[in-house]
Amino acid sequence: VPVALDIGGSKLAAAWVEEGRVLERRQVPTPKEGPQAVVQRALELIRDWKGPLGIAASGRVVEGRVLALSSDLWPGWEEVPLAELFAQTWGDRVKVLNDAQAAAWGEYRYGGWGASLFYVTLSTGIGGGWVQEGQLRQGVHGLAGHFGHVQRDSQGPRCGCGRMGCLEVLASGSALERRAGLPPAKLLERAVQGEGWAQALLKEATFHVAEALADLQALLDPEQVVLGGSLGLNPLYQTWLYSALEALPPLYRPRIAPARLGSDSGLLGAADWVML
Ligand SMILES: [Zn+2]
Repeated sequence: VPVALDIGGSKLAAAWVEEGRVLERRQVPTPKEGPQAVVQRALELIRDWKGPLGIAASGRVVEGRVLALSSDLWPGWEEVPLAELFAQTWGDRVKVLNDAQAAAWGEYRYGGWGASLFYVTLSTGIGGGWVQEGQLRQGVHGLAGHFGHVQRDSQGPRCGCGRMGCLEVLASGSALERRAGLPPAKLLERAVQGEGWAQALLKEATFHVAEALADLQALLDPEQVVLGGSLGLNPLYQTWLYSALEALPPLYRPRIAPARLGSDSGLLGAADWVML
């Protein structure tokens, strides 16, 4: 019976999993003091569980090492031997996967979609994972599916990854929060209340996401796009995104639906991955 961790920019989630079902789930805010603090907190969360440990973590993952793409969002995570750090306490059955790739894998294994899907997470950051014909495509450098770092505006602000105007720096939850001075959930409420500035901000951000999804159609033409993350799973946000997608030429509109495993896609994917 595997144990799973999902280490994100804002939340640290843990689950004890059996056959694609979460038996027990725990969640705390992600410690901000860097990798050692996160590892310590995570080990506390799971200390009374046993089993192989699957970890979904923000950042590019290469051979158990996490290499943050955007050090702005993820300070201290430039290169962290995460599998090794956990293995010191947990034993050597530890596997690490990029969080969005883990979520893509979870949705593929247990979501009841077809053999190919592209998972997009819209949350603090923006990420993605690509499963094609039952294979998780991680790319040569673990970079495949990093949807947040497609460029939307070459004159835009510099992204933490070093490029200019990436989707993440323009349209992620943290970008919205920076621009609105409010958490994204509050921004969505203000828009519902009819506040024009909030509506304009959401319209612009979802325009960028929709255009990036159109680029994805042109590149991969996926069977299914699966939407996750705290924003992606929010029905108010979905309304904005779907109306932005309506403006695209029909061929560029993805077949899109919310993640069937909700916010557990990454946990279930990581749990399955460590058992393979
Ligand atoms: Zn970037």
